[in-house]
Amino acid sequence: MEPMTADAPAPASRRVLLAAPRGYCAGVDRAVIAVEKALEQYGAPVYVRHEIVHNKYVVKTLENKGAIFVERTEEVPEGSIVMFSAHGVAPVVHEEAARGKLATIDATCPLVTKVHKEAIRYANEDFDILLIGHEGHEEVIGTSGEAPDHITIVDGPHDVEKVTVRDESKVVWLSQTTLSVDETMETVDALKTKFPLLVSPPSDDICYATSNRQEAVKVMGKDCDLVIVVGSKNSSNSIRLVEVALDAGAKASYLVDFASEIDEAWLQGVTTVGLTSGASVPEVLVDEVLEWLAARGYGDVEIVKTAEESIVFSLPKELRRDLRAEAAELVATPGSAPGAQK
Ligand code: SF4
Repeated sequence: MEPMTADAPAPASRRVLLAAPRGYCAGVDRAVIAVEKALEQYGAPVYVRHEIVHNKYVVKTLENKGAIFVERTEEVPEGSIVMFSAHGVAPVVHEEAARGKLATIDATCPLVTKVHKEAIRYANEDFDILLIGHEGHEEVIGTSGEAPDHITIVDGPHDVEKVTVRDESKVVWLSQTTLSVDETMETVDALKTKFPLLVSPPSDDICYATSNRQEAVKVMGKDCDLVIVVGSKNSSNSIRLVEVALDAGAKASYLVDFASEIDEAWLQGVTTVGLTSGASVPEVLVDEVLEWLAARGYGDVEIVKTAEESIVFSLPKELRRDLRAEAAELVATPGSAPGAQK
């Protein structure tokens, strides 16, 4: 029988609130399937520039199947196949791949590509673009690379004061896709106060998956003593879920990659545990946390559903071609450095 302490709530009252939607988004699903298909079609190795998605488990699983993750395009041997991650890359990376005679597969999420296209369009119209996002994040590096002379990164409301522009009547804001919806609106408000003619993008850049996961945590978080977010430490959207849970009223919230990282002490005095996962997290990792919690008396699970998701993206078109033959031809052709596909 389970020991009862002054701090431990009665087993009958312990419960888990499980956020929905959670986990894989359409862009991550597409990118992971793209690596698997490329390995199936072309055989190992398939090189992937940066983590295909920010999740330790996914990266390890794909490595075991023959994917090789590299930080820089120059690390990929001539004549190989290289895939670009869901976060997107700057045009200069496509040029590096062409110089290295690499066949490329672009797994950039279509919703990131949409932001790239907006950046190109506003730069062509000679706007100053204020890109709200985290300095150094791969997606921000990729988007800024589309128009480096026109883009200034604004890393939150505290950054607004130092922003300068050439012409206050030609300024637009764009954003990273995985930010906190509320904090981004705070930044936009501060920018609008400073630049009253600031133009907004035609539609939200923060993607549906990020917004939906945050909304579910907002609704769930206020009833939770503890919210566990399954996700990796370098996953922007997962970190935001911890912040949203705390803002919503959860007494504590932690980010874990695996159930084994949960500290038993977090459960002291906890009646309701909220559980969610970032957009790059496979459901198997959430199942492991549910099992871990059930083994400690939190077996009663209620789903808190705030949205339906049915978006599916088609796989990168490059998977329909014979990329091994294309790469071999590139190597065989002296001086060839054709433009990589985007
Ligand atoms: S989080 Fe959003 S932008 Fe990023 S891959 Fe998923 S759907 Fe695309």
